[in-house]
Amino acid sequence: MINLFKKGYDMETEVKVKKYTCERCGHSWISRIATIPKRCPKCKSPNWAIPRKENKKELRVKNLFLKELILRRGYRQYEVANMVGMHPTLLSDYIIGARDISDERKEKLAEVLGVAKEDITKGEFI
Ligand SMILES: [Zn+2]
Repeated sequence: MINLFKKGYDMETEVKVKKYTCERCGHSWISRIATIPKRCPKCKSPNWAIPRKENKKELRVKNLFLKELILRRGYRQYEVANMVGMHPTLLSDYIIGARDISDERKEKLAEVLGVAKEDITKGEFI
């Protein structure tokens, strides 16, 4: 065994590391380099720090899917809420277009749907 103290190593030396998480693939890594990483080491995306935003078409498709389930296939609202992992109350807001809900609920709704809060506010869902 090597005695580090005898060799003059300082055991208290602080090593500064930074933890990053890729917004595209979810990979987390630690870097000792001071500059911001250019790419995600796993998926190699240069946009690793920018969250992917769903476009309006995707939002509309998502909304139509939920409405289809409730209105045409006869699923109950709580069943659909369960399917998409959303609280039934939140799902109501989603279905009505989320135009007249509180900021707090909009934020929560945006979080559940993985979209920006502004997209909820615009009422792009109906
Ligand atoms: Zn990645």
